[in-house]
Amino acid sequence: MLDEQRQGEATVIAPTSILMNGKKVYVESYGCQMNFSDSEIVASIMGEAGYETTATPEEADVVLINTCSIRDNAEQRVRNRLTQFQKEKKANPDKVIGILGCMAERLKSQLLEEEKLVDLVAGPDAYRELPELVQEVESGQKAVNVLLSREETYAEIKPVRLDSNGISAFISIMRGCDNMCSFCVVPFTRGRERSRDPKSIVEEATDLYNRGYREVTLLGQNVDSYRWNISKKGEVSDTNEETVNFAQLLEKVALVHPDLRIRFSTSHPKDMTDEVLHTMAKYENICEYIHLPVQSGNSDVLKRMNRGYTREWYFDRIDAIRRIMPDCGISTDIIAGFCGESEAEHQDTLSLMQAVRYDFAYMFYYSKRPKTLAERKYEDDVPLEEKKRRLNEIIQLQMEHSLESNKRSVGKTFKVLIEGPSKRSNEQYCGRNTQNVMCVFPKTEHGVGSYVNVKVTDCTSATLIGEIVGEA
Ligand code: SAM
Ligand code: SF4
Repeated sequence: MLDEQRQGEATVIAPTSILMNGKKVYVESYGCQMNFSDSEIVASIMGEAGYETTATPEEADVVLINTCSIRDNAEQRVRNRLTQFQKEKKANPDKVIGILGCMAERLKSQLLEEEKLVDLVAGPDAYRELPELVQEVESGQKAVNVLLSREETYAEIKPVRLDSNGISAFISIMRGCDNMCSFCVVPFTRGRERSRDPKSIVEEATDLYNRGYREVTLLGQNVDSYRWNISKKGEVSDTNEETVNFAQLLEKVALVHPDLRIRFSTSHPKDMTDEVLHTMAKYENICEYIHLPVQSGNSDVLKRMNRGYTREWYFDRIDAIRRIMPDCGISTDIIAGFCGESEAEHQDTLSLMQAVRYDFAYMFYYSKRPKTLAERKYEDDVPLEEKKRRLNEIIQLQMEHSLESNKRSVGKTFKVLIEGPSKRSNEQYCGRNTQNVMCVFPKTEHGVGSYVNVKVTDCTSATLIGEIVGEA
């Protein structure tokens, strides 16, 4: 999932080391939640090495940009930013400029040697080495580590999160992806799928709760394939230790405290089990909200996308969600204009949307990504204008559905976790209900981090507007 408002945000944390080195690091992030979560790990590693984080790139000794490759425009944005930083470097030649994340592996030689835009390149599995890589640059070399690992999960590194609202945090539960959807660059930039030790996940959730956090979002590219101590084929690695699947992990985190809300992202339609849905229904603090990317409503397109399910299978999963949790919020990702998509296939996406009636969606037009199966196998043959027209139709329809969904909530009362002041006004609070819909309501004596009942009186397509009617 991608939060437009967070693109380009800086990660700032409290000093973590007793031995500060007097230097400052600036970390700027793009892309999905996983990248923002990684930036907290990066800030933590640099903090331990004595760096202070800053929100001002001009005063930083080290500038790091955590990048995204998922679509071409994400890369263009980062390039523009790097050019700006290069101008600053002219005035301050000792400044170290580095790129991290998904563009690192893809564009290392281009950015480092040809365009000379950066001094340092570190891939998503190389962050432990960052302090050494910076030292290499300081001693006059260019520093690169883009090796992908089969093991690295940064399990014991505690990301520090002082820039957040202090109420909701992300916890990475796995890294990489083994799925090979034909349009997607993630398996190439983030490597093989690996799950993190459940003990370290529960510890992190407990620690966050003790520090006042009230919501955690468990992150992975395909959370349903989370597994610990058991291989894909069902072989147990250590017979003295328990095995843990995603439903069991959810339960463990839900048991940390009833006042700690749990969310997760992303579910994969081919792997989402009824066991996960039943676990969600069993625990009140696991939010009734599922992000279930469909990508296309046509089975032939899904086949070309190598998604591993059909339109009918997807409907079966939606039916299961509605059967087990009738009020569950559902959102999705949709790609318009994938290779070879005909008008009729596009219409199938619209008709699937009509049938499911998503509460929310992230919508994109297809952009060809290097190395992917689609790039090698299919022609990117839907003209850009046509992709944009289809995308617009999808967006228009989704706006109708989001508004419809919010209108249905008017008059209802929801348990909401107060996250902080609303963006527009200091007199208003904002917070989400279990279905992940943002609610805005006038401030009362209830503090940030408390649960309140909010009665909805009005709405827009993106927000519910209401008032507190009591403690929840
Ligand atoms: N792992 C998740 C999944 O399986 O749905 C999400 C991965 S990706 C970071 C987020 C979304 O970006 C995808 O669901 C897809 O809709 C979109 N996306 C990925 N590659 C794309 C491409 N080449 N062109 C357009 N959109 C793309
Ligand atoms: Fe990409 Fe597919 Fe993996 Fe999601 S599941 S990250 S879309 S390859």
